[in-house]
Amino acid sequence: MESLSGSLKGLLSDLLDFIYPPHCGVCGRGLIGEQRVVCDACWQDLGVIAEPFCQKCGIPLSNPDLLCATCKARRHLFSFARSHGLFDETFQKIVHLFKYRRMRSLARPLADLMAGTMGADPRFAGMQALVPVPLHTVKCRARGYNQSDLLARELSRAIQLPVLERALVRTVNTQSQSKLNLSERATNVRNAFRVKDPGQVRDKRIVVVDDVLTTGSTVDACAAALMQEGAGEVCVITLARAVEPGKAAKAETRDSRLGKSRGSGSGNRGQRPRLETRDSLKEKTDP
Ligand SMILES: [Zn+2]
Ligand SMILES: [Zn+2]
Repeated sequence: MESLSGSLKGLLSDLLDFIYPPHCGVCGRGLIGEQRVVCDACWQDLGVIAEPFCQKCGIPLSNPDLLCATCKARRHLFSFARSHGLFDETFQKIVHLFKYRRMRSLARPLADLMAGTMGADPRFAGMQALVPVPLHTVKCRARGYNQSDLLARELSRAIQLPVLERALVRTVNTQSQSKLNLSERATNVRNAFRVKDPGQVRDKRIVVVDDVLTTGSTVDACAAALMQEGAGEVCVITLARAVEPGKAAKAETRDSRLGKSRGSGSGNRGQRPRLETRDSLKEKTDP
């Protein structure tokens, strides 16, 4: 019976693949073999933030200063933050699939990228627990899941650190940060988080997990709440680093540097040439 239902499922899946051939959600090319949702080429083309980067917020720098101009002027509450890559077009599309198109299976490969970044940075070595940035319950119910929870759980599997899932709660359903400037963002999320169980975080060295870091206001607010309840240290890991509108020049420098290094044997992957047909192809991939 089991094998019959198994073979029926297989048949149905083959039939669906025949009617709707699976395509990469980013570039639209056909997926082959074990590839799911995003093709291998798109994964490999994600730009990686390599040295030199700001030792505080992880933004790429054009010369090996220890801190970026923003971090020289502004005090973050986390000890340091790292992001795997820049929030470029490819990363934006992958994160969109993960967050808004319910492609939860992306959590594992995305968490593996974060695990790689953490493994390569010795500052993460003494960390003791992971805390995902919480969503407000209203938003979480609407989306069905918190993307940071999924990332933290998969990261926990990869690096063997426990997740303190209920340690931090979001008490204010803040408006979206995407159209706010730096000071508006900070005001918007200040006091939005509360530690539910102080015993869980006291004296712990904690890694806050989120998908994208922009100004750092959200993770600063998390760090403030955690430190207030006695956390020993709070640092941050995110998938991607979005560059503030006023700092676009830096991202361009970085992109062109990556572009130049393409094919020159550099460890960094270059940006893939933009596919003119990508958007039209993408429509076909929408489930
Ligand atoms: Zn692709
Ligand atoms: Zn910085």
